[in-house]
Amino acid sequence: MPKQKGYSKTIRSQQKVLHVSKKGIDLVRDPMLNKGTAFSEKEREEFNLYGLVPPHVSTFEEQIKRVTENYRRKDTDIGKYIFLEALHDRNEILYYALLLRNLEGMTPIIYTPTVGLACQQYGHIFRRTRGMYMPASAKGNFRKIINNWPEDKVDVIVVTDGSRILGLGDLGTSGIGIPIGKLALYVACAGIYPSRTLPVVIDVGTNNEKLLKDHLYLGERHPRLTGEEYYDIIDECVVAAHERWPKALIQFEDFTNDHAFPLLNKYRKKLLCFNDDIQGTGGVALAGILAAMRITKGKLNEQKIIFLGAGSAAVGIADMIVAGMVEEGLSKQEARKRFWFIDSKGLVTYTRGDKLAEHKIAYARNDKFQKTLLEVVKTVKPTILMGVSKQPGAFNEKVIREMKKHVDIPIIFALSNPTSKSECTPIQAYEWTDGNVVYASGSPFDPIKYKGKTYTTGQGNNMYIFPGVGLGATVCKATKITDSMFYTAAKTLANLVSKEDLKKGRVYPDLKDIREISSHIAVSVCEVAYSEGIAWEKRPDNLLEFVKSKMFQPVYLPYKAV
Ligand code: NAD
Repeated sequence: MPKQKGYSKTIRSQQKVLHVSKKGIDLVRDPMLNKGTAFSEKEREEFNLYGLVPPHVSTFEEQIKRVTENYRRKDTDIGKYIFLEALHDRNEILYYALLLRNLEGMTPIIYTPTVGLACQQYGHIFRRTRGMYMPASAKGNFRKIINNWPEDKVDVIVVTDGSRILGLGDLGTSGIGIPIGKLALYVACAGIYPSRTLPVVIDVGTNNEKLLKDHLYLGERHPRLTGEEYYDIIDECVVAAHERWPKALIQFEDFTNDHAFPLLNKYRKKLLCFNDDIQGTGGVALAGILAAMRITKGKLNEQKIIFLGAGSAAVGIADMIVAGMVEEGLSKQEARKRFWFIDSKGLVTYTRGDKLAEHKIAYARNDKFQKTLLEVVKTVKPTILMGVSKQPGAFNEKVIREMKKHVDIPIIFALSNPTSKSECTPIQAYEWTDGNVVYASGSPFDPIKYKGKTYTTGQGNNMYIFPGVGLGATVCKATKITDSMFYTAAKTLANLVSKEDLKKGRVYPDLKDIREISSHIAVSVCEVAYSEGIAWEKRPDNLLEFVKSKMFQPVYLPYKAV
């Protein structure tokens, strides 16, 4: 059993006792080791804790009850977020145990939509530092700075430049809330060890005037760097992190798409990394479509798909569906012909007269240019409508009724986040199709009642996919993340949707099973890594058992002084 040297070099699942070197108030103040009122009498004696914690020794369940009561007492979502982050900063085991027991209710607080609000107010609600900040002014010193991180073992790094936070735009350094939230989901959903996660924001400035004028803004106050200067800074940070933790997975998060694609293409063949907005979104949307096919009885390679929005999410989803269609026998070119992209200017065509961004070219069409979604729906008669445009209400009654004229059960995914940006709501989709629809959203919606029946529509949340992919890559020590990994993850997820889920109108499984889901996705990712010969770790006999044995469990272990 390894000896613990204090700050959170904490591998809990296989151990019965944890050897701890910290004592007294240092122990209470270490969020990875703190048990608060639950330190036993023996531990209070051994670790000089008498007088530092209240006399009653709480059980874990008492602690859960107390934090649940306190959480419920908060009457705003941002209040709940602040409460949960404070718990996160004080006692990680209790935080993750609470989160896991209430994942469905608390994910909208620690992640979208409330995390968006938290990022917008970050400088005002800031309590305690978490993660790493890499400011442009420190260029040339990132290698030194990265060494300030106290952990020698890091499995997953989530990094943003704060430029496109959810659908909210440029939030500069305040975007750190996103990596923090995503990594909390990695821990809760897939059992990555909390001490082995690292949230990072690379602060290259902000063009957000409101932030620049805000006295409490915590980032550097200058316009965003661009061009070579920008790429040099990102590169120095990525290389510094990769050199210190060569096996760590780097997840790029919420970069504007003019940078997201070049960065992904630059690093994906060199190191273990992916972009969740592109590949994770692609995986989760494909899983939803594959599950939807079980309702409509359609074939993937016969679908006609209109995308409203032609950014990172659109290309990520389209590429993943193309991979699925190719799997079902189409060529890549044939598959791409089944897509119609619409951006802020209208249908993406070669002939419309503007210079198309690189990432749109593969999906540009030779068709006559049309300006509006309604026109394109009339012409194309799509089977699937995919909303990734951040345009609330864009799937209006006319559009949806027109779509329904040509297809028995339209598939409508309104994926824009947060909830306020959704292209249409579930009840609108049900009403305008007389209840014949497969609907999924990007942000959570409450269950709806339509004609006496309750529908709990699915949320195409990336958290179904990325934690499992990360876990798989970490467990088998993959050297790269490949598209086949995401494709396999999507198929695995779609197969985990039960008939009961489909009857309720949901194309995603129940989130309460997320750990089971993540472990199966991790197994499928490992299998791809083994078959592609890109795993360092030898394949164990029972892969599922092995994966599960590597997952962090939020339980207190008895402590022994070193
Ligand atoms: P992006 O900024 O890269 O792309 C937005 C696209 O919308 C651009 O192509 C833009 O031209 C287009 N657009 C803007 N106005 C338009 C209009 N009036 N009509 C048609 N198109 C218009 O953003 P992204 O990363 O692609 O994300 C888009 C949305 O999808 C965001 O709200 C994001 O939160 C959401 N998203 C959801 C999930 C999920 O549900 N799992 C995952 C990723 C992203």
